[in-house]
Amino acid sequence: MKLVIATNNAHKLSEIRDILGQKVELLSLADIDCYDDIPETSDTLEGNALQKARYIYERYGLDVFADDTGLEVTALNGRPGVFTARYAFPDRHDTEANTTKLLGELDGVADRTARFRTAIALILDGKEHVFEGIVNGEIATERRGTDGFGYDPVFIPEDTGKTFAELGVEQKNQMSHRARAVRKLCDFILAL
Ligand code: IMP
Repeated sequence: MKLVIATNNAHKLSEIRDILGQKVELLSLADIDCYDDIPETSDTLEGNALQKARYIYERYGLDVFADDTGLEVTALNGRPGVFTARYAFPDRHDTEANTTKLLGELDGVADRTARFRTAIALILDGKEHVFEGIVNGEIATERRGTDGFGYDPVFIPEDTGKTFAELGVEQKNQMSHRARAVRKLCDFILAL
């Protein structure tokens, strides 16, 4: 089975390929010669995932899925949420600045609980399906570890005591928000 994943993010692609294994041949946007800047203007993760998947389905007519992830911090009333990628700067994605801003906003804050949430929208034969994956945890007081990407050095998934960046990709992929959402997607596809 061939499925387009509406991303060119190499980290994400390799994470999702690892999780899906041989069951599905994943095509990136580059594989289908799509170099567009796909709009993500919704105010929810689900809305953005659907918007990206529809964009590809409408133009290429291929089965496709898209994901959108947000970091939801309790003490920040769920922020940055849908703005996780552009938390520090509204017009660009700067991982270092995002992490620094998060540590700054939580400086001295006792409740450091947070969760990563991923929404995946799948369009298969024109029908839309949405899957969600959540991992609860907390925000560290400083960066720790070198693996992964994004907020991995400051996110400690519950019951581990280590950041995603310390746990490493293999362990992260067992438990991450994206892994959980992708597993639901995978179960759905395999049950067809
Ligand atoms: P996206 O929706 O996957 O593009 O992610 C939105 C934002 O969340 C970006 O700033 C990513 O760096 C961050 N992010 C998404 N997934 C992860 C993850 O697994 N670890 C750390 N940061 C992530």
